[in-house]
Amino acid sequence: MRTLAALALAAAAFAQGRAVTDAEVMRVHRSALLIDTHNDVPSRTVAGFDIGPRAPSGHTDLVRLREGGVGAVFFSVYVAAEYVTGNRSANRALQMIDSVRHDIVGRYPNDFMLATTADEIEAAHRQGKIAALMGLEGGHAIEDSLRLLRDYYRLGIRYMTLTHANTNHWADSSGDMDKTSVQHHNGLTDLGKQVVREMNRLGMMVDISHVSDKTFWDVLAVSSAPPFASHSSCRAFCTAPRDMTDEMIVALAKKGGVVQINFECSFLTQAARDAWVAKEKQPPATVNDVVKHIDHVVKIAGIDAVGIGSDFDGVDCIPTGLEDVSKFPNLTRALLEKGYKPEDIRKIYGGNTLRVMRAAEARREREAN
Ligand SMILES: [Zn+2]
Repeated sequence: MRTLAALALAAAAFAQGRAVTDAEVMRVHRSALLIDTHNDVPSRTVAGFDIGPRAPSGHTDLVRLREGGVGAVFFSVYVAAEYVTGNRSANRALQMIDSVRHDIVGRYPNDFMLATTADEIEAAHRQGKIAALMGLEGGHAIEDSLRLLRDYYRLGIRYMTLTHANTNHWADSSGDMDKTSVQHHNGLTDLGKQVVREMNRLGMMVDISHVSDKTFWDVLAVSSAPPFASHSSCRAFCTAPRDMTDEMIVALAKKGGVVQINFECSFLTQAARDAWVAKEKQPPATVNDVVKHIDHVVKIAGIDAVGIGSDFDGVDCIPTGLEDVSKFPNLTRALLEKGYKPEDIRKIYGGNTLRVMRAAEARREREAN
């Protein structure tokens, strides 16, 4: 017969979720192909940072990627809005692409392998290498030219975030909708629609993180392939306009898309968001807040609609328990404790992203040049 104390302990364990051993965490974690669809470390490597050795600062290096069991990374080819001045956006994009190819893959070929398709991600994983992919962040980098868009595809870019925090000449951003000095378009212009169609034709994923709500709805109407949010979270918990409303998440899922949860504290909790707005120090979110966002998407849109886009090395505040790329197993533990099954976790960590990538590849017109 169980004692009262044992019953109380069992009740407490149930309230927190089930107990999970370290061995189980690592077994499930290693069984997944973890694809992080947004990492900003190229903004460091382009300035000379060596990604190889364990670094005392920042969120990403090769040693910690290995410790975290990361299988693939979409490195962000981020072009800040300031490069629009003087038409330096394309120059910056090319330098960032070179940094991924030269400073990351070229410098550590035994550990990284450049990947441009879902099959290549899986091939790299089978060889024990980390698949390195590239996503272009900030549509202004095409300098309003479909030719540059095609050039970026040829260099290996496999998604483009249509805007950063700045509205460009063809798409509104969520980052400046409150600025009356900015000329907005009510979503996508005709050129913006052409850009989306050309991305479909090339097989480049359309990333709606950062765009305004109206741009999102326009993309959903225009794109023939499932769009995805490479690094966004849920507005249900937090008023950040960077996050997606329930209505948007459900619509995205209906089209076969995925929202990749961002680890930035001010996109996860209202307390952090309020502090960010007030320009105060953010109270850190926790790994359980990330689980809360994942769980919310699963509840409203299903297990096929969510993934991971950490934004490591691109965020101001990172959750306790997810301090850098080595800490992903803590998320696996929290998901197992919450009751997620290994096959669910494999979908969240990479299966869903591979599916969206393959859907974009399938839309690619044969021999699209
Ligand atoms: Zn971003």
